[in-house]
Amino acid sequence: MKMEAYSSARDEFKDFDRKMVFLDANESPFENGVNRYPDPKQQAVKALLAKQNSVNPNQILLGNGSDEVLDLLFRAFCEPNRDNVITLPPTYGMYGVLANLNAVENREILLTADFQPNTELILENADANTRMLFLCSPNNPTANSFSKETVVTLIHNFNGLVVLDEAYIDFSENESWLSELNAYPNLVITQTLSKAYGLAGIRMGILYASPKITAVLNKIKPPYNLNHLSQQKALEVLTDREITGNRITLIKAEKSRLLKQLLEVNFIDKVYPSDANFILIKVDNADKRYNQLLEKGIVVRNRSNQALCNNCLRISIGTPEENELLINTLKTL
Ligand SMILES: *Cc1c(COP(=O)(O)O)cnc(C)c1O
Repeated sequence: MKMEAYSSARDEFKDFDRKMVFLDANESPFENGVNRYPDPKQQAVKALLAKQNSVNPNQILLGNGSDEVLDLLFRAFCEPNRDNVITLPPTYGMYGVLANLNAVENREILLTADFQPNTELILENADANTRMLFLCSPNNPTANSFSKETVVTLIHNFNGLVVLDEAYIDFSENESWLSELNAYPNLVITQTLSKAYGLAGIRMGILYASPKITAVLNKIKPPYNLNHLSQQKALEVLTDREITGNRITLIKAEKSRLLKQLLEVNFIDKVYPSDANFILIKVDNADKRYNQLLEKGIVVRNRSNQALCNNCLRISIGTPEENELLINTLKTL
């Protein structure tokens, strides 16, 4: 690929010890904390993530949410109107949306009845133009994780990039696949600060892959895709691991409690196991129960129109008070 990453004038002078006078970027000279362009390489955030996750900073790409990171993958590795990708419904909607936007065929292979990837069908449906396979584990909206053997089989046998979306890994009882990154050159792992870290509003998605892959993505990313305030806030929250750790522990405890209490509601037919910060339930009539909750001021997600999710609602774990209100309300319907 004959492309070079945009180089900001500032990059070349960063290692100078002297305090420099910057008259090179037509910025405002009046300091207010954000009058300078942000670091296009996000070096401080990457250094911290690299240290915490035992990877090299050059194995990390940061994006304006996972959405941007995923979009960059399509743009870098798929040829429009020729290539295809494989996604496994019911799953995160953005993979299909981005495939469409990028004029890439989306081959949908349903999960099995127990919400695991159908390995044989996936490999059968891959051809010479299949570039990426999207695995979401823990999966949204089914809340379960994919078995380790299945993931290994797919990484070994799929002839393209395996993009493993770990948006919910911090709530999982399973380990992240990050420690395996160096073993599999075709493995791409995405994570986000939007869920466990409580930073959905700053938009920061993280991609981990081989330096070869991140180098390609870095060439095509917009230079200032992460603003300065987002980088600062990310550093602040990532540094204080105790707060995030405590919140994850609380969410998990609330989840255990809810998983039991939801079973006591008479119109809930099934409470699926959850390895994430949300619970999928099957009810008698999803539209009816969704609207009843709405009338009581509680918004959940109706997933009834998704494959394998007939009459299913997806409920995020809230604060203890919110969860209490949810259970009490459900019991009065
Ligand atoms: C919420 C979620 C994300 C996060 O997306 P951001 O753009 O980083 O906020 C990614 N993948 C899945 C499966 C999700 O549910």
